[in-house]
Amino acid sequence: MFYELKQSDIFDFANTFQTQKKQKGDELFFERCPYCNGGNHDKNTFSINLVNGTFKCFRASCDKQGHFVELARDFQFPLDFGEIKEYRQLPQKPIITRPKAIEYLKSRGISEQIAKKYGITTRTDNDNILVFPFHDENNIRQFIKYRHIKYNGNGNKEWCEKDTKPILFGMAQCENFDTLVITEGQIDSLTVAECGIPNAVSVPTGANGFTWYRHVREWIDKFQEVIVFGDCEKGKITLVEELQNRLTQKVKVVQMQDYLGEKDANAILQKYGKQAVIKAVQNAKIPVIKNIKELAEVKAIDINLLPKIKTNIKEIDRL
Ligand SMILES: [Zn+2]
Repeated sequence: MFYELKQSDIFDFANTFQTQKKQKGDELFFERCPYCNGGNHDKNTFSINLVNGTFKCFRASCDKQGHFVELARDFQFPLDFGEIKEYRQLPQKPIITRPKAIEYLKSRGISEQIAKKYGITTRTDNDNILVFPFHDENNIRQFIKYRHIKYNGNGNKEWCEKDTKPILFGMAQCENFDTLVITEGQIDSLTVAECGIPNAVSVPTGANGFTWYRHVREWIDKFQEVIVFGDCEKGKITLVEELQNRLTQKVKVVQMQDYLGEKDANAILQKYGKQAVIKAVQNAKIPVIKNIKELAEVKAIDINLLPKIKTNIKEIDRL
């Protein structure tokens, strides 16, 4: 049983209360606290954080705080905890890397050695379908992704083995718990590995799927830091926000200018070579702008909501 926070749930919950709501940054303020009703006179003392789900009433006599899941429980608001899903066990026989897989990866700048290390192959029934096996930290095959290398716009370009447990690609090949590099596509994490950078992994189901996170949370928590090397699309780097919201350690992001106008790690490799990929990883930084914005928002909230202490000096009381 597991609940994954959805902003839509918070808004749905808020809508069950008649009190006025307004959003300020990531906080959703209620004019009246659902627990103490602001003692019938204090307004906007209660808020829920839309990103991490924490809530708090700033009235000292109320002081209710906790997580949205507890709030929902206290007011009998139903949440979807999902069912315990039984994932399929996959056969664990050794993988033979077939020539067509090696040939295809070579065309993307990835060597036979890396192809074999990660067990990339093609399907026996169709050698135009590339097979990416996902092995967990104990080297157990949990998930398989397929990619049609002669994709012509019909049907699926990428899909995965039904009812298998989504985890990160490249977990078994990680070498230590120093720096983890996360990309969106498998070809991109293979690219990072090809450049000699250890601990390169990629997400199983694209930029928007995060079911995998709960399956690898404990493993990922062991890393000192994480570098996000998502796809650069429409002036944004994918995965960044979602990972910042979930991960507990330092999260660095590859700098936009180090994509050199390309969309992902493999495109950088193919056009500018290994050194450009290595440099992009080395130059990754903790995003500054987002942190400053968050600080500013926190301060604004504090000043408005901290209980005021009378000083008997008029000017200060107006602050
Ligand atoms: Zn309250």
